Amino acid sequence: MTSDRLPTLLRLARGLCAAGVLAWLFVAGLAGFAVASPDTSFSSFVESLWPPAQARGVTRATFDAAFKGVTPDPALIGIVDRQTEFVKPIWENLASALSAQRVSQGKAKAAQWADMLARMEKVFGVDRYAVLAIWGMETGYGAFIGKQNVIRVLATLAYAKYQGDFAKEELLDALDILQAGDVTPAQLRGSWAGAMGQTQFLPSSFKAFAVDFDGDGRRDIWTSVPDALASTANFLKNQGWSGGQPWGFEVVLPKGFEATHGEESKFAPYSEWKGRGVTRPGGAEMPGSGEATLLIPAGLRGPAFLVTHNFKVIKTYNNSTSYALSVALLGDRIAGRPALVGTWPVKERILDVAEAKELQTRLKDMGYDVGIIDGKIGEQARDAILTYQAKSGLVPDGFPTLALLQRVRAGH
Ligand code: CA
Repeated sequence: MTSDRLPTLLRLARGLCAAGVLAWLFVAGLAGFAVASPDTSFSSFVESLWPPAQARGVTRATFDAAFKGVTPDPALIGIVDRQTEFVKPIWENLASALSAQRVSQGKAKAAQWADMLARMEKVFGVDRYAVLAIWGMETGYGAFIGKQNVIRVLATLAYAKYQGDFAKEELLDALDILQAGDVTPAQLRGSWAGAMGQTQFLPSSFKAFAVDFDGDGRRDIWTSVPDALASTANFLKNQGWSGGQPWGFEVVLPKGFEATHGEESKFAPYSEWKGRGVTRPGGAEMPGSGEATLLIPAGLRGPAFLVTHNFKVIKTYNNSTSYALSVALLGDRIAGRPALVGTWPVKERILDVAEAKELQTRLKDMGYDVGIIDGKIGEQARDAILTYQAKSGLVPDGFPTLALLQRVRAGH
């Protein structure tokens, strides 16, 4: 996230994932857009938005000001053209997320905003380090908040009709924001996917969760750090964040530990994990109460974690294990908590998208529940792999390797 170009696709996927939409559907939508004639009916498309906007209480003056000079954005097509099917291993994402610079900047921001963050924790009951880490991950603590005209981006996407009415609904929400008067059309800036401000809120999230925390009477997630961070805390609170609970922590698994079906979704009390021989590094105690699930994103070859409901709450910001673990561990580093003792299998070649899709397809054909076949090995696919491994007499850990794919290909 060091240039305007680099975050484009990341932000695109992130913005869409945050809304529960898959990036590939976006690609499918714009493929249709590319063959349509983009300019001829754009103005009539915009005009078709007036009745629903008016019904929501948007005035004609606000509507006209929002769309003044707005045309479809051909750069969005270029973004799709540049998109390559490419998946990075989680350890590469983490290495970039936890860069020394991002950690040290996070510590500086934590000190600079300490009083406000304390007040934020008191009001919303959300851990300051999770919020700081989201800020760092989303925009490099406000350094890269996106300069796109949000109305133009969302109008382009809505006109392309990708993913049904998703972009249209966000566009109407953006008009509501303008009507409410928090920002002018010129100030309504964001990413290529319409995510806005210091912590990249979509318009619907802004409407639902943005708060004025610096007391100037406006919700300004673009230039007010207190507003942006408190809005993020409010979002997390409303997704079910439990105050006083950690996101989770690293654990050490005993030799011969066997993961079981549904491990990532089944919460069990800490006492049960202790009973299975799970410990914390350095002899640290498990919390006295609460429950957690096991997360082994690189299988038994990599670090293991017990994660709480708060980890799942972080995933509502961006439904990716890699993202949520980046936020969690970046927050830990900013807080000065110890680094991982486990090591990632950095020499392991992970499956590329085509291979991952093939594995998903073959497992599905064999009757396993792999979820959507998208070439991404998420929670559901890991669980299907784990179940297959257990049934095949392999050590079950849910991590896909080339050897595993070859075994599945051979029909074992
Ligand atoms: Ca404010």
